[in-house]
Amino acid sequence: MKMLQKCPYAKLCGGCTYQGIEYSEQLKEKQSYVNKLLSKFGKVKDIIPAENPYYYRNKVHATFGYSKGNVLAGTYQANTHKLVPIDSCQIENQTSDAIVQDIKGLIKSFKLQIYDEDTGKGFFRHVLIRTGHNTGQVLVTLVVGDIIFPSKNNFTKALMKLHPEITTIVMNINNKRTSMILGEREIVLYGKGYIEDVLCGKKFRISPKSFYQVNPIQTEIMYNKAIEYANLTGKERVIDAYCGIGTIGIIASDKAKEVIGVELNKDAFKDAIGNAKSNKINNIRFFNDDAGEFMVKLAANKESIDVVFMDPPRAGSDEAFLKSLVTLASNKVVYISCNPDTLARDIDYLIKSGYKAEIIQPIEMFPFTEHVETVCLLSR
Ligand code: SAH
Repeated sequence: MKMLQKCPYAKLCGGCTYQGIEYSEQLKEKQSYVNKLLSKFGKVKDIIPAENPYYYRNKVHATFGYSKGNVLAGTYQANTHKLVPIDSCQIENQTSDAIVQDIKGLIKSFKLQIYDEDTGKGFFRHVLIRTGHNTGQVLVTLVVGDIIFPSKNNFTKALMKLHPEITTIVMNINNKRTSMILGEREIVLYGKGYIEDVLCGKKFRISPKSFYQVNPIQTEIMYNKAIEYANLTGKERVIDAYCGIGTIGIIASDKAKEVIGVELNKDAFKDAIGNAKSNKINNIRFFNDDAGEFMVKLAANKESIDVVFMDPPRAGSDEAFLKSLVTLASNKVVYISCNPDTLARDIDYLIKSGYKAEIIQPIEMFPFTEHVETVCLLSR
């Protein structure tokens, strides 16, 4: 196997499991992983590579800590409480990395305390930065342990002065002893409190807590494939399940009669409604519900559905969802998955219930990690 120059943080950080492996070899690994799990269901296509495997992540997270009086920013070593200081990362957006570095300096000059996970004392916990690849907008979420932010306005001003490209700053209060990054409460310190990005010609609003795909270039490729496979003619009733901020359904809405989106996260659901409005789309509705429970209701009402897009989290879908999907008997299912293991489990269920896997297309979304995205078209 051809080896590359390793990232200096690779060993301790552990985020990139394919560190040091030549990019073409990484793709081969992913291809054979997907083949191994899915070729029994149908022919697996060649993986679509990323043109540039570096600096793709539009969402950057850093945790703060101290060492000998210096403020550090980085990530916890897997399964530990040990902070690995990281000054730059080869898969993260470079503007975001630069902002993290400057926040370290500001924490020091404003004499703000770093939150201590063990004692629950202190103030500054994390920063989360999201960038709109096609709009250049930047959202900085400062995660802090207390509602009282000493010299809040001056801190905001100083950060804006260093990085005028920031379009909005949000303070998120997380005072719980938890490994979850974000707390419930948010206060907008500057700007609109969310950013926008453009994907496949549509504009999307992204709030701090909403899910948004992390590799925007590959996401467009993936969405275009998913919509191409659905082969919409303008007459279909379409479901966008696990819809996040409504991206797939909104992009597909021009080619469908009606779209119904379902999403569990309230913030993402609200973003989805706003996104339909701002793109002036009238044939889409969103429901804030568990996708499985929602499908059970649709099946009980004997609704007629032509195409289902489903894009569940890594854990995959559940029996309630799949069972109702079979009852609804939509002609096409486009399953988008970030985990081939749960995809294999779920399509096995659908194939045993009368569906056929027509297309299995792996797509590179996460270079330097072992993760791989797959779009699968099933029909009956
Ligand atoms: N299709 C979207 C989001 C995919 S990520 C996109 O491409 O951006 C998966 C989404 O499923 C997340 O937004 C998550 O909040 C949502 N989700 C997780 N469990 C869910 C459930 N049980 N029911 C509905 N949505 C769920």
